[in-house]
Amino acid sequence: MTRVSVEDARRLWEEASDEELQQLAQEVRHRWHEPNHATYMVMRIINYTNVCVAQCDYCAFYVLPNQEGGYVLSRKDVFAKIDELLDVGGDLVAFNGGFNPKLPLDFYCDLFAAVRERYGDRIEFYALTIAEFVYLADRANLTHAEAAARLREAGVHWITGGGSEILTEDFRKRHAKFKYTVREYFEAQRAIVEAGLKTTATMVIGFDETLDERLEHLQRTRDFQDETGGLFSFLCWTYKPYGTEFAGVEISPREYWRHIALSRIFLDNVKHVRTSVLTQNADAFRALDFGADDFDLPIEDEVTQKAGATIELDLGRLLAVPRSLGYTVEYRRAERPAALTA
Ligand code: SF4
Repeated sequence: MTRVSVEDARRLWEEASDEELQQLAQEVRHRWHEPNHATYMVMRIINYTNVCVAQCDYCAFYVLPNQEGGYVLSRKDVFAKIDELLDVGGDLVAFNGGFNPKLPLDFYCDLFAAVRERYGDRIEFYALTIAEFVYLADRANLTHAEAAARLREAGVHWITGGGSEILTEDFRKRHAKFKYTVREYFEAQRAIVEAGLKTTATMVIGFDETLDERLEHLQRTRDFQDETGGLFSFLCWTYKPYGTEFAGVEISPREYWRHIALSRIFLDNVKHVRTSVLTQNADAFRALDFGADDFDLPIEDEVTQKAGATIELDLGRLLAVPRSLGYTVEYRRAERPAALTA
């Protein structure tokens, strides 16, 4: 199969049956992965602060500075959460929180250095999303390259692509005008790759985005990967509308599976396509038949839980689902960047 264009992708979305999408997606999946085999991680998202000035209208998590209910986790709280994760057999932490004007880049560098010192290689952590990275670099009056270097010195290996939702300038203006522009997002991600750190692509569907916007997001992601080769994976999850200003209704699991298939077909240059147990629960595993090859089992994420996500903590019961679909599943440890392993 040759590379599909945006026009091909539009036609596939509008006209292909589920079976046709599955077949094409499996063809691309097989270039990278063994059939009927999937990998997974047990992880925890640590939401270190809910104070945020970005005011995204799809977010049920944040409070503004000086509003009641704002918090910043102490280092003791953070360590306790990591210890709990280790106790259940997990080893990946993702730090994610609001744009809190009281927390400068140095706060994060100190925190990440302390985590690295205490846990060494027993855990890996996603330090920030690109959205937070852009905000912190800007507040510190640093270029993206300088901010990436500072974080790397603090022991950071990964700054992931979270917070991207839909990467079109129009979507950003409609829903998250204080967060970042698409141009800033990719400039920052390029600096992260050039600093020798690892990064990922993400996407969230199910707001009011058009098919054109979904395709533009995929096109920008594929172009970035062609240019840099820096994206380890692509993870797509679905918008949870409960308690948010934007509200709305959730998309169906079938729409999600079809989008995973389209992403697998289109992103022929990204090794891993990941399905979201956090937002799709057991339905996420059916996406393995639509081209996904990897997933997280999260034990906490306040951001999506506040918007209606529910988390199953019986990991054995969850893993029984992909097995019942005919997949062998294997635990995967987060990789260290090659530039830092010498
Ligand atoms: S999604 Fe993130 S950046 Fe946007 S308001 Fe919520 S916490 Fe802030």
